[in-house]
Amino acid sequence: MSFLTMTHLEKIFGQNRVVKDFSLSVEKGEFISLLGPSGCGKTTVLRMVAGFESPSAGGITIDGKDVTGLKANSRNIGMMFQAYALFPNMTVADNVAFGLKVKGAPKAERDARVAEMLALIGLADLGGRFPFQLSGGQQQRVALARALAPRPSVLLLDEPLSALDAKVRVSLRNQIRQIQQELGITTIFVTHDQEEAMSISDRIVVMNGGVADQVGAPFEIYNRPRTRFVANFVGTLNTFEVEVADPASGRVMLAGQGLTLPDAPLAARAGETLSVALRPEALRLGRLPDAEALLTAKVTDVHFMGSVIRLKADLAGAAVSLDTFNRPDTPPPVVGSEVEVSLSGR
Ligand code: ATP
Repeated sequence: MSFLTMTHLEKIFGQNRVVKDFSLSVEKGEFISLLGPSGCGKTTVLRMVAGFESPSAGGITIDGKDVTGLKANSRNIGMMFQAYALFPNMTVADNVAFGLKVKGAPKAERDARVAEMLALIGLADLGGRFPFQLSGGQQQRVALARALAPRPSVLLLDEPLSALDAKVRVSLRNQIRQIQQELGITTIFVTHDQEEAMSISDRIVVMNGGVADQVGAPFEIYNRPRTRFVANFVGTLNTFEVEVADPASGRVMLAGQGLTLPDAPLAARAGETLSVALRPEALRLGRLPDAEALLTAKVTDVHFMGSVIRLKADLAGAAVSLDTFNRPDTPPPVVGSEVEVSLSGR
């Protein structure tokens, strides 16, 4: 049996079924992200696991024990929220010690654990400060230490990075992942940021309208989305109209050039029009030897992002995105210019 299981969970608020038949098994030490747009039910699932909401139907087990009817404080769960969740009138050390104090741990044990936790998050010297004397990123690290101090069996993170600026956000997400792996703690992370979810998760649950649309490793979710919603929500898509040439081999025609799609045989007849979605990396700037098709595109927008340049272009009547690596000796194409684009269906 998996370490944490959710079976046919449902949550109804008034007339509104916000979580519908949600089942998920999480292995010990796994890092799972619940990813989806605002209002899809991510936080509600997390709150049911925490014990802040009781399910309208279904059950939850942790380490083989049914916790569905247990109060939040009997579940041995650590939780970290968006921001501003520290006690403002307590020092950093007292914040971290809070859960242990509630549990009745003796002072010497608390002090040792606080020192250990502050060292873990890299704030060993700041135990005497108050939250208002810390940056947002430091406050969130203290919140993480506070959640972990009582040695919870599950860690629940509800958009803990969303109030931070971009750089701090990336560095803290890496630190969270590193600490999670070091401790081997089973973790569920709620986010609506697909890049964040892909970069730190063992598996991602893509939620849509209260159900799990797809569960899988980031590589699988990105490369083999099972629904149109997942394909659109995770990553960027370029959508083209193509004409089917040979359904058996997956051969299609785009603007007079052939492409072979990986999903052969195609569920369409020769001559029919299909809508095909390609990731930006299937389109490459320039004339490449392994390309199947070579088309001309007109550049409509250029985003210089550092190591990568993302171009928007008009290609065979479709508005597309494609990426190219920065080369210090070659300035990026300019808006309005024509570029050659190599395409591969696979
Ligand atoms: P967000 O990213 O915006 O936090 P979410 O995916 O976490 O979204 P939830 O917070 O789980 O979504 O909310 C799902 C739906 O349930 C929303 O439509 C919300 O308005 C509704 N909802 C949540 N809590 C309650 C409540 N206590 N009473 C009534 N409706 C609620």
